[in-house]
Amino acid sequence: MKAVLLNAVNELVVTEIPTPTPGPDELVIKMLACGICGTDRHILVGEHPAKMPLVLGHEFGGTVTAVGKNVDFKIGDLVSVDPNIICGTCDHCKAGRSAHCRNLIALGVTINGGFAEYVLLPKSQAYLVPKATNPLHLGLVEPLACCIRGMDLAELKGGERVAVIGGGSMGMLIIQLCKLAGASEIVLVTRQKERREIAETIGATRTIDPAAQDVRKELVDMDVTFEAAGVIEAFNQAVAITRSGGTVLVLGVAPSHERAELSVYDVVIRGLRIIGSYINPYTQARAVELIASGKLQIDPLISKTITLDQLPEFLRNKPGQGDIKYLVTGA
Ligand SMILES: [Zn+2]
Ligand SMILES: [Zn+2]
Repeated sequence: MKAVLLNAVNELVVTEIPTPTPGPDELVIKMLACGICGTDRHILVGEHPAKMPLVLGHEFGGTVTAVGKNVDFKIGDLVSVDPNIICGTCDHCKAGRSAHCRNLIALGVTINGGFAEYVLLPKSQAYLVPKATNPLHLGLVEPLACCIRGMDLAELKGGERVAVIGGGSMGMLIIQLCKLAGASEIVLVTRQKERREIAETIGATRTIDPAAQDVRKELVDMDVTFEAAGVIEAFNQAVAITRSGGTVLVLGVAPSHERAELSVYDVVIRGLRIIGSYINPYTQARAVELIASGKLQIDPLISKTITLDQLPEFLRNKPGQGDIKYLVTGA
């Protein structure tokens, strides 16, 4: 089968590798959509640890083509994949903190993932998706599951004034989830005009260009602020614009060596809740339901669909202006 293989840092090749066959508790799917994520780019250039050689890609789904004898899925079933495989036996797993499993492995990070024609997965990672679902939308289920986790931690009750900093796929999904959750105001902060325009069609009540406007003057006393940019300045802004007793929910993955300008005094006096949200524990099934329900606008987030042959070029380059999500299709 065709696969895009990362042999070493910055060594990406389109090649043929053996089509996997499932063990008793595994299945194989034909990949139908796999999203390109910032994490894939970080792994490519050596900024995020990974085991190589490796097939990247952790945001995907497809059609079941082969099953092991202990697997209940049927050939032809549409499935979404949770890439994060927990051990279930470490102290964190046993206490319900599986995002922090000490033995976490992940499809597309430590074992082969979605940028291939076929993908082998343990049955625990597959979620049945209604047949009528647009297969391209399978590429957004995992990011959505991560956003639902963030929403759980943010604890919106309805009526909140919310800011979202960062107009990538996570920011765009959070906007829509906040709308569903009854936020009274949803303000997106992002530099790219095209992204601001899309945001205003999917639920943002207002958008701000941080290059032209002073975010800290425009936004004051927000109830909840989502940092979905993975940039230190966005975090600093988020802390500054959130009200006393409010919540700063951090979804973006900032570079590990950078430090924020946080005032500890401020955190105490203002009673800030600063919460990190990591991956998608227990939320993949809800993400499947929500995608299948059609309640979210997914199509505006899909900027391009590309082939496996085109992938190396798209991974090596930064996303184009205004683009949100690229999906690799199996074809
Ligand atoms: Zn991702
Ligand atoms: Zn564990």
